[in-house]
Amino acid sequence: MRWKGRRSSRNIEDRRMQTGRVRGGKAGSIGGVGLIAVLVIGYFLGVDVTPLLQSTGGGQTISTGGEITEADKQAGEFVSVVLADTEEVWAEIFKEQVGRAYKPATLVLFKGGTQSPCGGASGASGPFYCPADKKAYLDTEFFTTLSRRMGASGDFAAAYVVAHEIAHHVQNELGILGQANKIRQQVSQAESNAISVRVELQADCLSGVWARYAQARFNSLENGDLKEAINAAKQIGDDTLQRNAGRRPNPHSFTHGSSEQRQRWFATGYEKATVQSCDTFSTDRL
Ligand SMILES: [Zn+2]
Repeated sequence: MRWKGRRSSRNIEDRRMQTGRVRGGKAGSIGGVGLIAVLVIGYFLGVDVTPLLQSTGGGQTISTGGEITEADKQAGEFVSVVLADTEEVWAEIFKEQVGRAYKPATLVLFKGGTQSPCGGASGASGPFYCPADKKAYLDTEFFTTLSRRMGASGDFAAAYVVAHEIAHHVQNELGILGQANKIRQQVSQAESNAISVRVELQADCLSGVWARYAQARFNSLENGDLKEAINAAKQIGDDTLQRNAGRRPNPHSFTHGSSEQRQRWFATGYEKATVQSCDTFSTDRL
């Protein structure tokens, strides 16, 4: 992705220098594998890395914040440019396709751990979006996890992750997230999971719409970028995550969709380039 020297977003809340301590407690505990912590929130709207992680289940306390390395700095700048891209693109799409103004999300960069109204995040937990404060939360260390542990390398794999979280904000702005979460509170776990899958696949599709518009607007995609995003969608599919964790995939427990579904919905968004084409709620073929 061509991103260096490009406009960065003002809507970054950088908490990486904040030092403090986050209680692990029940909401998040440090795992045994590379000290990667598990993020548990009511409705996980992030990249679910939990199947890969081992939880010790304890109430450990971890340190947060501290030194910003050169790699952290670079990653922060990259995220900021991608966020700026999403702002311009979604402003354009809202105007063209929704008929109203787009209000951008804030993206919180944290290191180690932080708090959100949706719960505490700690360690290199997966990024997530919290509808209550309309903020996306990201520890850029996650990009390393994505690349080294999950087999999704490349800058556009990282861009897709940011675009996916911002897509949840788009769903929130469109009222879809609120409706979906309301229904999820009233149904069985299996039904709730099924709704979650539709929400997540829609976010993947909207990420594809974003990628298409970003390419048209900024000519930012390089050879192989789309492949990186599609590969990332594959690596974070529920079946692949469960299989890589040595488990047999159990579709009833899926909350994000299979690798095949995630790749296909991203591709659909990219090809069709409309919000309408991302209606995962009324299709028979997810
Ligand atoms: Zn998500």
